[in-house]
Amino acid sequence: MQVAVFSTKPYDRRFLDAANAAAGGRHRLDYLEPRLSPATTVLARGADAVCAFVNDAADAATLEALSGAGLRLIALRSAGFNNVDLVAARRLGITVARVPAYSPEAVAEHTIAMILALNRRIHRAYNRVREGNFALDGLLGFDMKGRTVGVVGTGRIGAALARIALGFGCRVLAYDLRPDADLVAAGVAYAPLPELLANADIVSLHCPLTPETHHLINAETIGRMRRGVMLVNTSRGAIVDTRAVIDGLKSGQIGLLGLDVYEEEADLFFEDLSGRVINDDVFARLLTFPNVLVTAHQAFFTEEALSAIAETTIANITAFEETGRALHEVSTERLV
Ligand code: NAD
Repeated sequence: MQVAVFSTKPYDRRFLDAANAAAGGRHRLDYLEPRLSPATTVLARGADAVCAFVNDAADAATLEALSGAGLRLIALRSAGFNNVDLVAARRLGITVARVPAYSPEAVAEHTIAMILALNRRIHRAYNRVREGNFALDGLLGFDMKGRTVGVVGTGRIGAALARIALGFGCRVLAYDLRPDADLVAAGVAYAPLPELLANADIVSLHCPLTPETHHLINAETIGRMRRGVMLVNTSRGAIVDTRAVIDGLKSGQIGLLGLDVYEEEADLFFEDLSGRVINDDVFARLLTFPNVLVTAHQAFFTEEALSAIAETTIANITAFEETGRALHEVSTERLV
């Protein structure tokens, strides 16, 4: 198939080319740097499928343009699919495929890296030592052992994080619509969300972004957390109301914040903007806090994850070409 690959970076090309070669080089991959949007759909003209990433906007207008050009498949290089209008996709007969599990450990391990860095102020220590400042004031951390980690969403990534936290000797409290019996057997305790928020020293978000989880972390839920809590979000930006989090940081209710995702990240992340002015005042405010650590949606970014993403993406495209069905389709059955 001919595939228009949007939001391409050099690393996407490297891993997708390798996966396509391993599949006999059967697909023609056209690498495009722009993000998918109504204005860029014209670049997909002549293609059979579109391959897209997390900040590509597959909204109704985009899907209508793609459908008009005869495209029938969107192969997402991600697990999350909140950027696709599934109702429009269903109406237009466009199949949406994704990569449901590539490396949950990649994201869970990055989450732990953020938790440890924030706890032990590694981001501050790194700068201090380089400037010849070897003082320890302001770098005081806490033992992970015995602390309570609240995991919101115990699917693949949340479960991997829970197991790592258990390894540190943490108590793990979890909240999910569908509790995982294996995790309970491993020592995880499930609790309603208010109870988790009231008891966790660290709250880590691993549920998908859905209408129900949009701004799940808001002024009211932040108010239920322990004073000085560490909040970490490596899931999707809009699960957190960023303005409410900034208020929480200013009041001291939130003591430490780690973000790998941000509500308005589409205009910032994955690009080198170091020579430009940041026009997003909310994001700029976040960067002023010494107790905030931001990474630019890099939790997935390991060799293993990129290989798996590329292999599953090529397998999705191949299966669709051969059978009319992708290997991992996003179900639109329950949509109206
Ligand atoms: P998953 O589908 O395996 O698990 C999601 C879990 O969330 C499920 O157990 C589900 O029951 C639960 N859930 C759904 N709605 C909920 C709600 N309202 N309240 C509580 N729990 C709820 O997904 P996963 O592979 O673990 O990925 C989780 C999320 O992580 C993805 O949706 C994606 O947004 C994000 N992600 C981020 C990165 C990154 O690089 N930062 C990479 C991959 C995935």
